[in-house]
Amino acid sequence: LVELDRRHLVHPVSSFRGHEARGVRLLTSAEGATVTDSEGRQLIDGFAGLWCVNAGYGQESIVEAAAAQMRQLPYATGYFDLGTEAPIRLAAALAERAPGDLDHVYFTLGGSDAVDSTIRFIRYYWHARGMPGRDQFISVASGYHGSSSMGAGLTALPLFHDGFGAPHHSQHKIASHDLYRNPNGSDPASVIASSVAELRAKVAEIGENRVAAFYVEPIQGSGGVLVPPPGWIAAMRAVCAEFGILFVADEVITGFGRTGPLFACEDEGIVPDLMTVAKGLTSGYAPMGAVLMSDHVYQTIADFAGAKAVGHGFTYSAHPVSAAVALEVLSLYEGGLLENGRAMGARLQAGLQGLSDHPLVGDVRGRGMLAAVELVTDKDAKIPLPAELGAATRLFDRAWDNGLIVRAFPQGVFGYAPPLCCTEGEIDQIVERTRKVLDLTLD
Ligand code: PMP
Repeated sequence: LVELDRRHLVHPVSSFRGHEARGVRLLTSAEGATVTDSEGRQLIDGFAGLWCVNAGYGQESIVEAAAAQMRQLPYATGYFDLGTEAPIRLAAALAERAPGDLDHVYFTLGGSDAVDSTIRFIRYYWHARGMPGRDQFISVASGYHGSSSMGAGLTALPLFHDGFGAPHHSQHKIASHDLYRNPNGSDPASVIASSVAELRAKVAEIGENRVAAFYVEPIQGSGGVLVPPPGWIAAMRAVCAEFGILFVADEVITGFGRTGPLFACEDEGIVPDLMTVAKGLTSGYAPMGAVLMSDHVYQTIADFAGAKAVGHGFTYSAHPVSAAVALEVLSLYEGGLLENGRAMGARLQAGLQGLSDHPLVGDVRGRGMLAAVELVTDKDAKIPLPAELGAATRLFDRAWDNGLIVRAFPQGVFGYAPPLCCTEGEIDQIVERTRKVLDLTLD
């Protein structure tokens, strides 16, 4: 399998650098928060796959829900006016639980096409309002909003642009709210003030009649788990409201209990105009994402479209099997997983904070079951690990050899997003195994 993979399966992020020499690691089965590799090694999955298996592995009731839906009706198109029960019930359940009037749901296959769909809907919205010139989008440095053509334009990580030519969409960035490495210092009030000033300046520079929308992750994931100071999101939301700019919360990672509540916007007390979700929606058991639209966005588009069709849709939108899976996942969240995730999240944060004194640890940050440990060689000067020491694959391998899967970001940051079903013992092991990896790295 490793040889066949090497020859035929493309993993763009890793195949083209070094991955060839080592080959893939094969996983064979999983249960709860533990995965087993082809050598029989058991590992705690501290990253829930790719921040997605929030409900944990081996949840029989999810398997049953998928199988039952496959038997009854595996597919029906959501493209036209055809309905099936599961996606309708799921849309209603999400609308009921989402903040404010985010009552209109469009289902996609994952996060990237959810973000792409928001861009298309937002452009339609501004046409509907007679302002087609509002076609510029702003996002936040080190933000991630997907790999598809338009979403990648909002993604502000250089890796996703280098070598790909011009972005397919307008790219305007404001600086990240990264508190650890903020050029304006780590005082929350000054970080908020400088971001507000920068967003205003950016709007003025682009032209306030040109800005369509502002995109933000409530906590940046792929940028290295960067948590904005309390009030930052609300302050940015207020600037957008002042200029009539649509505010989009990308909750692909933060949704479904990752930070504590069902949606991280609840932590911030804000209601976005649009929201994107994926990952935890089906907990990785089936592919699905969604766009949630507020009443005014939906109504503006609907009124303008009138009786005519709006040309947007995917073959697998509102897939009945994915929807059946998502409904069961939602009932597991509400049947105790969210609550367990909140308790385990507090334990994870406290445990990782306990590593702060380690000579290699510069910063520990996160909220709930989303966390990062940033490694440095000099704590005062915040000097990142040199590449030969901090190479992401080396750190990842070292964690793997110690029975732990974590994300090792290239900048020497360990990322954590364990399944919400973790036990206290597993959370403690995540922390202990991290300590061991740090000690080994120090030697
Ligand atoms: N938005 C955010 C915030 C994400 O983290 C991701 C994926 N990591 C995406 C969008 C894209 O989602 P997908 O990989 O499902 O296309």
